[in-house]
Amino acid sequence: PRPMRSAEGATPAMAQWFAAKAQHPDGFVFFRMGDFYELFFEDAQEAAAILGLAVAHRGEHRGEPIPMAGVPVHALEGYLARLIRQGHRVAICEQRETPEQAKARKAPTIRREIVRLVTPGTVTEEALLENGRQPWLLALAFAEGELGAAWADLSTGAFACETLRIADLPALIARLDPAEILVPEELLGHQALSPVAERLTPAEPSRQPAARIADFFGVASLDGFGSFADAEVAACAAVADYLRRTQGWEAGSGAAPRLRPPEPQGGRETLRMDAATRRSLEILRSERGDTRNCLAAAVDRTLTAAGARELAARLGAPLTDAAAIAARHDAVEMLRDASSLRATLRGCLKAAPDMARALARLAVDRFAPRDFAALRDSLGRAEAMEAALAEAGPLPARLEAVRRALRPGDSPRGELLRALSAELPARLEDGGLVAAGYDGELDALKRLRDDARGAIAAMQMELARDWGVASLKIRHHQQFGYLVELPAAAGEKLLRAPPVALAGTPRAPMHRQTMANAHRFTCPALAELDRRLAAAGEQAQKREAAIVQHLRGLCLEAGRAIDAAAAAMAEIDVHAAAAELAAGGGWCRPEITDRTDFAIRQGRHPVVEAALARNRGPAFVPNDADLSAGQRLCLLTGPNMAGKSTFLRQNAMVVVLAQAGLFVPAASARIGLVDRLFSRVGAADDIAGGRSTFMVEMTETAAILNQATARSLVVLDEVGRGTATWDGLAIAWAVLEALHDRIRARAVFATHFHELTALSGKLPELQLAHMKVREHRGEVVFQHQVAPGAAEKSWGLHVARLGGVPRAVVARAGAVLAALEERAAGLEPLAEEMPLFGGTVPQRSAMTQPPVEESAALEALDALDPDALSPREALEALYHLKMLR
Ligand code: ADP
Repeated sequence: PRPMRSAEGATPAMAQWFAAKAQHPDGFVFFRMGDFYELFFEDAQEAAAILGLAVAHRGEHRGEPIPMAGVPVHALEGYLARLIRQGHRVAICEQRETPEQAKARKAPTIRREIVRLVTPGTVTEEALLENGRQPWLLALAFAEGELGAAWADLSTGAFACETLRIADLPALIARLDPAEILVPEELLGHQALSPVAERLTPAEPSRQPAARIADFFGVASLDGFGSFADAEVAACAAVADYLRRTQGWEAGSGAAPRLRPPEPQGGRETLRMDAATRRSLEILRSERGDTRNCLAAAVDRTLTAAGARELAARLGAPLTDAAAIAARHDAVEMLRDASSLRATLRGCLKAAPDMARALARLAVDRFAPRDFAALRDSLGRAEAMEAALAEAGPLPARLEAVRRALRPGDSPRGELLRALSAELPARLEDGGLVAAGYDGELDALKRLRDDARGAIAAMQMELARDWGVASLKIRHHQQFGYLVELPAAAGEKLLRAPPVALAGTPRAPMHRQTMANAHRFTCPALAELDRRLAAAGEQAQKREAAIVQHLRGLCLEAGRAIDAAAAAMAEIDVHAAAAELAAGGGWCRPEITDRTDFAIRQGRHPVVEAALARNRGPAFVPNDADLSAGQRLCLLTGPNMAGKSTFLRQNAMVVVLAQAGLFVPAASARIGLVDRLFSRVGAADDIAGGRSTFMVEMTETAAILNQATARSLVVLDEVGRGTATWDGLAIAWAVLEALHDRIRARAVFATHFHELTALSGKLPELQLAHMKVREHRGEVVFQHQVAPGAAEKSWGLHVARLGGVPRAVVARAGAVLAALEERAAGLEPLAEEMPLFGGTVPQRSAMTQPPVEESAALEALDALDPDALSPREALEALYHLKMLR
């Protein structure tokens, strides 16, 4: 926030602006002045730069010209969209009365008020939403020493909450990818939030949260919705408070946003994935941050925005309940095989309007006629889908469950069908939303209005005759209503010599206005007609507004049923999309078991495969993976670019897809339920957090070693690459042993430490695999094929030679390599002599005695008292230790 400017001496309107700005120092203030929203001072300059507006000046403030930029009222959404996408916030300050009303109460200027704060997490307008993404508003709050999280999507009404540990916060944020996060003061600078620092909004804790949230839902207590921890209530209340504030509801100017009662997530078991795993698997976004090259995009064949959102939600939170997963697979399988049913359903889904979002806009009273049409049309499609499903005979449980929701009992569709006119206006203000024949009173008012219009045309002819001016025209003026307009010469003639016969009659001309080249007249009859017309028009407008509110009420009353129908359509969309993908071939229904199987035949990486196809590259090479009991750990070697990370990721992705309830890109897959998934592949930088690559790598490795279980799947790329060779190797070695012996997880471990392959004799469940590479006409050809055994070692030199490194240098490198290998040969016996981690294998006495030098080092280490050392002494001690090594 900038230093506040003094408002002293401001004009009355600018004083209002200063007051608005003081309320929202961190956001732009859009200040309504007639047909424009104006911005002033720095707001004007900044917004002008972002939106490409011209900056003008409007008067002075304390001797300085006031910079001003404006956007036309009708173009508001487009400009808002650009600011909100960039993470800005906008306060909308509206005129709350007409100039006449202000004059009547002798006020120096029109009353203006902030009616709404537009923020990334509270938008509902079509233009401001990203299709297929939920703009989650996430709130965090503490109570009773616990951390609660609540997240709401105003654009669909979804609302959920849970209690969590701070350590799990990054995973939740990675899963939801919230547009905005409300945080209490004490969390503002927290490490866990640093990657999303620009999405944070400080929020004061809600006072009496339980009462606030009950009040929000208009219930006496939350108990009817389920049982909530105090921290969850506090977080839900933070959401509710924020919505009241931003939606202008508190000030009495807005309508209450529609949220479903919060769903506690605590009991729902989902596949645990931390933030690093989600990032590495690029589930909803690629590592570069786009939504195009991610897993969700590669498998998304949904036809509706709601379906895309549901798919993203499922991929973000795969299940761990075998029965629930199988139920989803059953639905996909049936729709894959019943191709004509699938085609009918997808025909209905195609371009079906977004009901959930239309309903949300109706709730906040910021809607357009098309939102009614959306409900009418989508409910119609839902009914057609219900009919198709009913006809298809016995359905799998999931499809049967959603079928019933598709035809709600209290559907407002019939009413909408009758009420809406065939040609809907773009905006409510344009009028004409209600069809003729729906409401007798409205029809009568409209008839009156239209009759009067006909009467005006008749009167024009009569006056032209009676006043003797053939070119006489009756025109409508915004301010004065209907007037006769005459060219200057004819007007002057009429003024000089009014038709005598008309004097005293209703058609006697009365002069109203002289303009540069025309005169305006009226007459008592025209004035009377004008009054009647205005009254009829106004009444018709009022009547129509009342009908619109009636329809809105009907839709909101049926809100729960519409929600359920919308959710049912979204679910069918997801199942049918997965079926569509599967019907194309190459995708199979995974078999989910409760053992620790993992056998994938001919598996593929859907994102890499799609990218290759898009760029007309070579075909993707499928690969098998078998981590079933007896060979749970796969150690994968091979040069860079050979396809190691692709293989690692594809095996983790298969788990995500399978447990999300989708089919998987493989010829067959048998997967024992995975409880936690860990993927460490790709960039491990934490630029925002300021930790070195190696530190990040070790933190993430620690997370795996501390959390993985025998039911987990771990894919790890090059542990230890971030440090010197020996440390790195040592760490990779120990991690591999721990995975094998202590954790007993299924794992694929890619490494460039060839030395690790020596462990294969030692760890019975370790299988060796490598990426096949061959030389073809002097070039290295990556075959992208996983084969058993360890890789050949010499590819580095090979690539160096092919890359054009001078022969002499390559030859020298060859000699050095040979010498190094000779020394490293000592490592193989080392594999023999190192006792296994955790001591699960009987130790062989002779080998366990540590070497003499090491004990000297250990003694020296024991003698050190870190607290007593100066930094300089500490450094010296380190050098000393190093010498003992
Ligand atoms: P590494 O991790 O061994 O350095 P990557 O997995 O990043 O290698 O793969 C490098 C490139 O090779 C990928 O971008 C992709 O274009 C190609 N590739 C990898 N695996 C396959 C495969 N199975 N079939 C076809 N191309 C592949």
